[in-house]
Amino acid sequence: MKIMPNRMDRGFFEYQEEFEKKALEVLRSGWYILGKEVEAFEKEFAAYVGAQHCIGLASGLDALSLAFRALNIGPGDEVIVQANTYIASVMGITMNGATPVFVEPDEYYGPDPDAVEAAITPKTKAVLVVHLYGQSCRMDRIVSIAKKHGLKLVEDCAQSHGATFEGKMTGSFGDIGCFSFYPSKNLGAFGDAGAIVTDDEAIDARIRMLRNYGSRKRYYNEEVGVNSRLDELQAGLLRVRLSHLKEMTREKQLLADTYDSNLMPAGGSFEIPKRLEGANHVFHQYVIRCKDKETRERLIEYLSERGIGTIIHYPIPPHLSEAYAYLGFEKGSFPVTESYADTVLSIPMYNGMTQPEQAAVIGALNSFS
Ligand SMILES: *Cc1c(COP(=O)(O)O)cnc(C)c1O
Repeated sequence: MKIMPNRMDRGFFEYQEEFEKKALEVLRSGWYILGKEVEAFEKEFAAYVGAQHCIGLASGLDALSLAFRALNIGPGDEVIVQANTYIASVMGITMNGATPVFVEPDEYYGPDPDAVEAAITPKTKAVLVVHLYGQSCRMDRIVSIAKKHGLKLVEDCAQSHGATFEGKMTGSFGDIGCFSFYPSKNLGAFGDAGAIVTDDEAIDARIRMLRNYGSRKRYYNEEVGVNSRLDELQAGLLRVRLSHLKEMTREKQLLADTYDSNLMPAGGSFEIPKRLEGANHVFHQYVIRCKDKETRERLIEYLSERGIGTIIHYPIPPHLSEAYAYLGFEKGSFPVTESYADTVLSIPMYNGMTQPEQAAVIGALNSFS
């Protein structure tokens, strides 16, 4: 049996008829950009998150970069972000000329709230939290720190569609919530797509203008904007997926529960993910942590020999990437982040994963030492 880390085809075939019907409907409508599907999706997704407004965009990175732009954060401004994130989170900051200030994560992969507070300087304008792997950050503490210091709060929800903290949806805590609908995300399109959610009317209006060449009224351009429009086809297909998101999330959570209760690492070779109290984890990824880098290398090889694929999210933290060499960080600057990068491993987890597939993964992991 060959088991891939992710299977997007399964999620398609589960609702094939609905997707194909919607795709044909949009193709035959003769209207492909900013139309009724985008409008309907924006309404439905805002309601889902519990936000006043949603603006459909072309990608998650656009959501992040437009978020900081809409908050007027730029050169000379600092944004605090956990160091153990996907590099897009950081690019959203630096594309605006602002400076990322990295902080170490806690054991749940969110930013350590004490480290966030300690990193605040007179230049700090915002905190960007990333609900990594599908688990909410400690929003009780983060929200109060942001409030206390008068900082803007932006959430990177690219991996946390439907995840909550104390019953409240991620994306609804901050000034702006940024979403990606990249095909492998929990709410995935069939191409690139993203969105911003906000309760702020002025931010909503500004993002709507920016995504369409800085124009509110056709051919009347107020600002140098971008082209970052969600298209009708993706919006229509996302509406189909959104209508099933509850059951799809439930399915992943059950897979995670099965892993939790059946994985028995021999000799402490790896650890299962820790659950943060109050957080409803949606398991974009099921991430185990190996004893050390060498153990991870052996485990990857061991699983691969048994036909089981894995992925490392992410092997090189942004501060050590070539892209950010100019920030001047060296190995050892963020030891917790770097140790996570050396030891995390995402094991197969996807909608439509069968019981025999999961049993094979569990069997292989439990026979490793
Ligand atoms: C996927 C992802 C992004 C970027 O989304 P795109 O749609 O690929 O631009 C940003 N942040 C995180 C945490 C992600 O996982």
